[in-house]
Amino acid sequence: MKAASLAAIALALSSSLACYAESTPQQVWDRLKEGNKRYLAGKSIHPRFDAAKRQQTALNGQKPIATILGCADARVPPEVVFDQGFGDLFVVRVAGNVCAIAELASIEYGVKYVKTPLIVVLGHTQCGAVDGAVSGAALKGSLPKLMALITPTTDKTKKSHPELKGNDLLNAAIEDNVRNSIAEIRKNSPGLTDLVKQKKLLIVGGIRNIEDGTIRWLSN
Ligand SMILES: [Zn+2]
Repeated sequence: MKAASLAAIALALSSSLACYAESTPQQVWDRLKEGNKRYLAGKSIHPRFDAAKRQQTALNGQKPIATILGCADARVPPEVVFDQGFGDLFVVRVAGNVCAIAELASIEYGVKYVKTPLIVVLGHTQCGAVDGAVSGAALKGSLPKLMALITPTTDKTKKSHPELKGNDLLNAAIEDNVRNSIAEIRKNSPGLTDLVKQKKLLIVGGIRNIEDGTIRWLSN
């Protein structure tokens, strides 16, 4: 790693210590909900995408307000969905919003070092990755390894809801998959779970409807 990169990480760490918990988890969640309302109303303000913001974050480090684990699907860009600006969200995107080790480590970085008080696991309707796991489609390349992370959850969905078919089954599996990623975070990261117990961190799940743009927040 280059010295400049190390310096940048050190800067991010030092600046993050100063900004931790400037907002409560609930306040940050409310900001995201308000941003989604603006987006839905066609009143997005697209905050801080300008050169000044770029220079400010380069000099002072990143200070995002939330960590997002979302799907790679092009129809679910978190900054647009929540009407947030450059440097406002610490985003981990992977097909099927799974939480394997690289994703978990990134989330831990977003919380422990960048000090975001909120984690959002954001699934979405018509998720191709979850659909692939539900249908058991034959896939090539590395995709079967990704499916292996999702299929145990979708198998449980099928078992608990044998009456569901088609889109109803897919929607139930998408919700279970979001809940599973939250469970993986809690199970595999005791440090984050401790922060939740101390009420310094909230982990929430949501499902974006890609047709109407709304987000259905899951109850804990
Ligand atoms: Zn997806």
